[in-house]
Amino acid sequence: MKHRNQVFDNVLELVGNTPLVKLNRITSKFEGDFYAKVECFNPGQSSKDRIALYIIEEAEKKGILKPGDTIVETTSGNTGFSIAMVSIIKGYECVLAVSSKSSPDKIDMLRTMGAKVYVCPAHVSADDPRSYYQVAKRIHEELKGSVYINQYFNQLNIDAHYNSTGPEIWKQTEGEITHLVACSGTGGTISGTAKYLKEQNPNIKVIGVDAFGSVIKKYHETREFDEKEIYPYRIEGLGKNLIPGATDFDVIDQFVKVTDEESAHTAREIARTEGMFVGYTSGAATQAIKQLGEQGAFKKGDKIVVIYPDHGSRYMSKVYSDKWMSDQGFFDSQNEAAAQSIQY
Ligand code: PMP
Repeated sequence: MKHRNQVFDNVLELVGNTPLVKLNRITSKFEGDFYAKVECFNPGQSSKDRIALYIIEEAEKKGILKPGDTIVETTSGNTGFSIAMVSIIKGYECVLAVSSKSSPDKIDMLRTMGAKVYVCPAHVSADDPRSYYQVAKRIHEELKGSVYINQYFNQLNIDAHYNSTGPEIWKQTEGEITHLVACSGTGGTISGTAKYLKEQNPNIKVIGVDAFGSVIKKYHETREFDEKEIYPYRIEGLGKNLIPGATDFDVIDQFVKVTDEESAHTAREIARTEGMFVGYTSGAATQAIKQLGEQGAFKKGDKIVVIYPDHGSRYMSKVYSDKWMSDQGFFDSQNEAAAQSIQY
């Protein structure tokens, strides 16, 4: 492993080996020591760099990809950015089918990173030929040698974290980690990391973070898909309205649900108290720790590691906009809104 003060051949050499940073204030009223695995130190500013690089390199090893071939995925989020970045360095075409709900900023960002972006209508069902799932599938089928990342159903998503995030945390805590707390979207991060850590020490508690409006927690408890659990929510990146094949429910001990509102306030609190400008789901994961802490889940000597998946800059028009917070009804009063920011 190279250290950051050395010279690198390209940005991909900087994927992984992210720092573990102690939380000094936001969790200080609870027993135990808390550490954040700060994934925005990846070159694409999120944990998704790990899966993009891993899945593409596995395809190269199997001889599926050669220079000039195409990588396909259906995302406008962190994974799209990471795939675009890896494609530039390795000389692949990157095709992303995204929903027309995606913000113009995100689409511009992906195009800037060299991706070919197909904007597909958001209002059609998943099996409609115009949907972004079907468009991606068709491009993949038509292009020989293309790779479809398919992060929600790709076992390699789990393997990427089993081979990197898990061993890194084990080493960084010198084997003393007692709890892992991570948001679950595809489930790749929590499943791969937990699988590795539990192989080292089966007593490590693994806590997944889910959203109200998502089916994941209920499925974990009952192994039944309960449609009644599904309703719209605002946090992007955790929870789901389907059961992802990239989630290994057996390595997760418990799920905690968090609200949009409390997660948003906690994300802003991380910035103000720890000086870390991280994404909405970092707020959600820290909110889960607060809820568990209030219930006395942690004791002196515990070492709790929480995953902070991405950087705050991707949420400027959402959780870090006072106007957005007000529009959602997340400020109790005008005074609270004013107190959050210095008005000039
Ligand atoms: N936070 C953010 C911001 C994400 O984009 C994702 C990925 N959807 C997650 C958390 C959850 O990670 P995973 O997909 O590995 O469960």
